[in-house]
Amino acid sequence: MFAVGLTGGIGSGKSTVADRFGALGVPLVDTDVIAHRITAPNGVAMPAIAQEFGPSFVTTDGSLDRAQMRTLIFSDDTARKRLEAITHPLIRAETQRERNDAQGPYVIVVVPLLVESGNWKTRVDRVLTVDCSVETQIARVMRRNAFSREQVLAIIARQATREQRLAAADDTIVNEDAPPDALQIQVEALHRAYLAYAHTA
Ligand code: ADP
Repeated sequence: MFAVGLTGGIGSGKSTVADRFGALGVPLVDTDVIAHRITAPNGVAMPAIAQEFGPSFVTTDGSLDRAQMRTLIFSDDTARKRLEAITHPLIRAETQRERNDAQGPYVIVVVPLLVESGNWKTRVDRVLTVDCSVETQIARVMRRNAFSREQVLAIIARQATREQRLAAADDTIVNEDAPPDALQIQVEALHRAYLAYAHTA
């Protein structure tokens, strides 16, 4: 099925935009949801994680100890790569399975780290980047997560730049804080284009 990879920096509005496409009947596959599920109790990644990092990284309910892992990989790039070597292939396989099962004219695959990780660009037919200014990102994430400005800046610094994401995009949605229909108009225009692409693909 024709697939659009949806990406954007933290707080750009990926989830908001994905929900708008969902409301138009487009099936969504969210790699963040999948990443969470494979590390939930009895998640398919858990045996390998326990083996690689030791049982102390597994909580009593059998899920990943996220706080401990976050602390480890924040300061240890090798550990992050070891974790990703386990999770990324599983996320890719699960994404593929959900794409195969999806029912609809085309599918939106939400990949927050599309530009940063692996060859996602080659796995989708088009890349849609949700774009806004860094100041807007900061304000939204401070509000949404009750983070300090410094915390948000630290996350943004670890992600691809706005320019890198725009360079990877076939299509862009500008999502500044504007009247709600400014976003809806862009979503509906792209939806019509994607329906046409999917029809001729
Ligand atoms: P992401 O998934 O990219 O991190 P979200 O879709 O969660 O971003 O949006 C971040 C925050 O900003 C959310 O609280 C969301 O409700 C808000 N938000 C997103 N788009 C807009 C907009 N156009 N106007 C106002 N608030 C918005």
